[in-house]
Amino acid sequence: MIANFWQKLYRNGWVTGLVIVLLITFNTLFSAKGATTVEGFESGSKGSYAAADVTLSTGVWNLNDALIGNLAGDAKSGTKSTRIRNSGRATMKFNRTTGAGTVTIKHGKYGSDANTTWQLWCSTNSGSSWSQIGSTVTTSSTTLQTATFTPNISGTVRCEVRKTDGTSNRTNIDDITITDYGTSGGGGGSASVHLTMGNPSSAGTSNLNNYLLDKPQYAVGYNCSLGRPNWVSWQLNNSWLGSTPRQDDFRADTTLPSGCYQVKSTDFSGSGFDRGHMTPSADRTSTVAVNSSTFLMSNMIAQAPDNNQGVWANLENYSRTLVGQGKELHIISGGHGTGGTGSNGTSNTIANGNVTVPNRTWKIIVVLDTPGSGVSGVTTLTRVIAVNIPNAQGVRNDDWRNYRVSVDTLESLTGYDFLSEVPTSIQSVIEAQIDSF
Ligand code: MN
Ligand code: MN
Repeated sequence: MIANFWQKLYRNGWVTGLVIVLLITFNTLFSAKGATTVEGFESGSKGSYAAADVTLSTGVWNLNDALIGNLAGDAKSGTKSTRIRNSGRATMKFNRTTGAGTVTIKHGKYGSDANTTWQLWCSTNSGSSWSQIGSTVTTSSTTLQTATFTPNISGTVRCEVRKTDGTSNRTNIDDITITDYGTSGGGGGSASVHLTMGNPSSAGTSNLNNYLLDKPQYAVGYNCSLGRPNWVSWQLNNSWLGSTPRQDDFRADTTLPSGCYQVKSTDFSGSGFDRGHMTPSADRTSTVAVNSSTFLMSNMIAQAPDNNQGVWANLENYSRTLVGQGKELHIISGGHGTGGTGSNGTSNTIANGNVTVPNRTWKIIVVLDTPGSGVSGVTTLTRVIAVNIPNAQGVRNDDWRNYRVSVDTLESLTGYDFLSEVPTSIQSVIEAQIDSF
């Protein structure tokens, strides 16, 4: 019976049709398991711009001031893409229940139309309210380009593309690809994107003083005895930046293992030290959840106010200007040693001894010219900025450039192997140099 069916298909030259049926079946199975959603606009038809629902391979979408185009002027992969005009939108009318880690969207200009702008918005309440993800994209090429966003939203989510320039110039959008929450990252494989350059202390889950907190927004090597991170590592590119305001919801990290003291939001009160972010709030503004994650106390060290608010903050701001120039950064920072000088004088510990105040604050910034290039984007010419700054008052107005050191110096200080995923022949060159830009 089945063999007969196949023979019939073959005889009738319907192999192409069969392949399409199999692809759709595979796609359905994958969706059911909650893997990547890819909407290529190939299976639906909508010839007018008037707002209407259309059933596509991933589910029902509402296309408002948007149609499905298949003309020569449509920028597309395959034979169709959606074409949006004015302030049109392409909106999912269904939820994913496995969240949204990374979203990539192909976009191109229609025909000879002028440049356009658009944004990605997502909703966690079935479309009642929406938050913008990342920043506004400009479409300036008739060849499809890929824009990458990092919502890092867990659970229920749906998203939409909003054309924002309002002009009659048309934009094509294609291959909207959404990965599950917790699987984002361009590094390939299971490792965190924030550990692309390596896990400098081989942190894992067996040692409470070298304990890996593998968060979607950053990675931490935590030290329960010191009540602070040994290091925090994070990727910084445009996809993490948006318009979300600072949430200021400092709180204990309840994901720390049993037997580990959970530093409280109030533990630094009156100590003379700031709750000093390692992954800065301002590096994580794509969504409320992403920004809020930086206020976990496992991301904090007891930092002298002059260090935190002055020289350290200036280096953080400088880092974001590099992202504004199109760079992707891989940053790792921490505190070293015991005893700093805050606004109330010198302390070795605070919070009844639960938190050890570091003596120095250090940071390493790998500057990739090509976002997404990972370790293979690191060459002997790659810029690496490393600093080692006293955790003390009096440094507020100092230039961070005056505290630059080599990565080798920080490896000697901390005992860690930084950039361990970079080939050793390249490490030996870039770790010996001191940035002089
Ligand atoms: Mn800070
Ligand atoms: Mn190294």
